[in-house]
Parts: sequence; structure tokens; C-alpha cells
Amino acid sequence: MRTVTILGATGSVGTSTLDLVERAPDRFRVRALTANCDVARLAAAAIRTDAEMAVVADEACLPELRAALAGTRTHVAGGPAAVCEAAALGADWTMGAIVGCAGLKPVLAAIEQGGTVVLANKEPLVSAGDIITAAAARCGATLLPADSEHNAIFQCLDAARPDSIRRIVLTASGGPFRDWALGDMAAVTPAQAVAHPNWSMGAKISVDSATMMNKGLELIEAARLFPVPVERIEIVIHRQSVIHSMVDYIDGSMLAQLGPSDMRVPIAHCLAWPERMATPMAPLDLVALGRLDFESPDPVRFRALALSRAAADEGGARPAILNAANEVAVAAFLAGNIGFLEIAAIVDDTLQRYAPAAPETLDAVLHVDAEARRIAGERVKDGVA
Ligand code: NDP
Repeated sequence: MRTVTILGATGSVGTSTLDLVERAPDRFRVRALTANCDVARLAAAAIRTDAEMAVVADEACLPELRAALAGTRTHVAGGPAAVCEAAALGADWTMGAIVGCAGLKPVLAAIEQGGTVVLANKEPLVSAGDIITAAAARCGATLLPADSEHNAIFQCLDAARPDSIRRIVLTASGGPFRDWALGDMAAVTPAQAVAHPNWSMGAKISVDSATMMNKGLELIEAARLFPVPVERIEIVIHRQSVIHSMVDYIDGSMLAQLGPSDMRVPIAHCLAWPERMATPMAPLDLVALGRLDFESPDPVRFRALALSRAAADEGGARPAILNAANEVAVAAFLAGNIGFLEIAAIVDDTLQRYAPAAPETLDAVLHVDAEARRIAGERVKDGVA
């Protein structure tokens, strides 16, 4: 029996994780579930799984959660510190599925308990990758990647022989606008941007997929997680989203992981690791699929790719600035305050305006993150670059 905590239990990844956990009650017992403010979904999940603790990050939502879980054995709490307390309960297995850098402190709190910490939440790795990997090494925690591309790489990569790896190939669907002209992309609405052709995901990552910033964040994430320098990580558009990434070896062998576009596949890999567990997905029908296509991404229409590669090359504070400015710009786009192409413009502008020293501590990263958000926020208010 493995104990499980899910940070961000009400989101897209969180509910996929719960689905797998609830299908195997003989294998998993839930310790804590957290959300921002979706009380209805959180309380229902806590009741179904008889969770020990349920937490809302937004303290204003705590009275509603308390009422919803009155009479149950679930302990309730609210506020960002309570999310960290839930993460620090010491579950055997913790899923980090909060969206954005808001997940950084909770992920670190889980890592400090030394169990298995699974990262879907990529933004903390982008902003504070060295701090996270150092904490995992210090505390004896096992980090597993749930992001489908990184999970694919993890399955294909011989980490003990980094010299044998020629390159990593990160696959990208290209998002809903992969065939659109740049001029048409200027008028994209939030509803169009969140309608991903292959994956069902939360709003923020859906917009990131549409701008291809998601792939840029993943490039940085891959360089943090695997012993391969960023210049040997290539991005290829693969519109079917069947191959989730590949590792190319010096002898000419290329290993790929294939699977349905359903996050329950990589999450199940992490839940059962190093074993395997069954999932409810139908096997891939290769004959029905017929073909797999690959093409190069267009750096002109998808400016976020060049911005993230430059941030990855330069290192230091650049990835944290990139990520923070992007979080602000995506939120502004979703709120209808800026246009689609202005997301990358704001990220670029923030990177140009702010050049602090490399942050070496958690507090320094959080300072860079806050300052980059302030600068990006000003650009949003000013009506953009
Ligand atoms: P969602 O928006 O669907 O869910 C986000 C979760 O985080 C919700 O539980 C939400 O609670 C909670 N949350 C939001 N803000 C805060 C906050 N300030 N403090 C604490 N909790 C908060 O996101 P996804 O599930 O799509 O994505 C989660 C992470 O996983 C992201 O980093 C994303 O990049 C990554 N990822 C997602 C994939 C996907 O298929 N969705 C694939 C690969 C990676 P509430 O519901 O109450 O708002």
C-alpha cells in the first residue's frame, strides 16, 4: 500500500491522477489533496478517497471547504502555508500538479520528506531547477517526470551512459495554430487558444501549447532533468502526438516512446515505477493511425521558441524571468487584456529590461520571479511593447 498526496488535485493532471489512484484502492491510500479554490471538486474527491487532509490555497475558500467536509474525518486547512504542510505530511508518492511557480514551495516541501515526487508542474523546474534537483539529492527524494515528453525521455534514456547519447528529440504537436499565418494569429481569442487539437489540459498550458512556449519550457525542463546539454535537445513538430519524445544514440539507434495522448499513461508510469500498472486506455491502433509526420517548427510564427532557447543557453536568472513574464502574459491574454502575439512580446520585453545576477537561493529565485512579474505586469497595463 502506497500513500499518495496530490498537489493540484482538482486540475487536469490532478483529476487524471485521482482517476488512476481510485481505480486501485488496494494499492493506494490518499493522504492529502490540495486545490486553489475549487471546493466542490476538492471536497468530492476527499470524500471519495477518505483523504486525511484537504487544503485550499486561497484562504477565502476555507469556510466553504470546512462546511463541505463537516462530519468527515478529513482535516481541512487554507492558505499557501497549509498547502506546504499538506505536501510535508510525508506521503510515499506526491504528484506536483499545481499550475505555475505557485507549485515551487509545495514541491520543495514534499521533496524535503524524501519520498517520490512526481513533477507535472514544469514551471518550478524552469525557474528553480538547480534548487529542486539539489534538494532531491540532499533529502534522498526520487524525482520522476510526468510531463509526457520527459516521461518518454526517462523511459528511453540510458542515464548511466550520457556519452552514448547524441541528442534528445522533443516532439511537439504544434498546437492549434500550427498551420495559421502570422497575421491571422494576431486575432486569436482565448477560446481558440485553449482548444488543443490533441490534448485536454488546463487553460494555462493550453495557451502555452498554442504559443509553443510550452515546448520552450520543456526544453529547459529537459536540460534540468537529463544529462544532455541544451544544444543537443532538438524540437520537432509531430502533429499526431503519438511519439512523446525520442533519444538518439551515437550508434544510430533512436529510441522512442509511443502512447495515446492521455496523461494517464505517463502518470501511471510514475505511479507504478519501477513496476508497470494497467490503465483503462485502449492500445494504440497503428494501422488505423497509418502514418507519423515530422516537420521543423517555424521560429518566426512561434517566437517563444527562440526566446526560451536563448534563456536556456544564457542560464542564470533568464529561465525564471522567462517563466514569470509568461505566466503574467498568459493570464492577461486569458482575461482578454492583451492579444495572442503580445504574450511573446511581453516575455521578450521583460527579458530585455531585467538582467539580475544568477539567483542561487530559493529566496533569490522568488525575488527574481516577483520582480519579473512586476515588470511584465507594467507592460500589460501600458498596453504592451
Ligand atoms: P489546471 O489549471 O487544470 O489545474 C491546476 C491545479 O492547480 C488546480 O488544482 C488548481 O486549483 C491548482 N492551483 C491553481 N493555482 C494555484 C495556487 N496559486 N496555489 C495552489 N494551487 C493552485 O492545470 P493542469 O493540470 O493542466 O497543469 C498542472 C501543471 O502540470 C502545469 O504546470 C502544467 O504545465 C503541467 N502539465 C499539464 C499537463 C496536462 O495535460 N494538463 C501535461 C503536462 C504538464 P483550482 O482547481 O482550485 O483552481
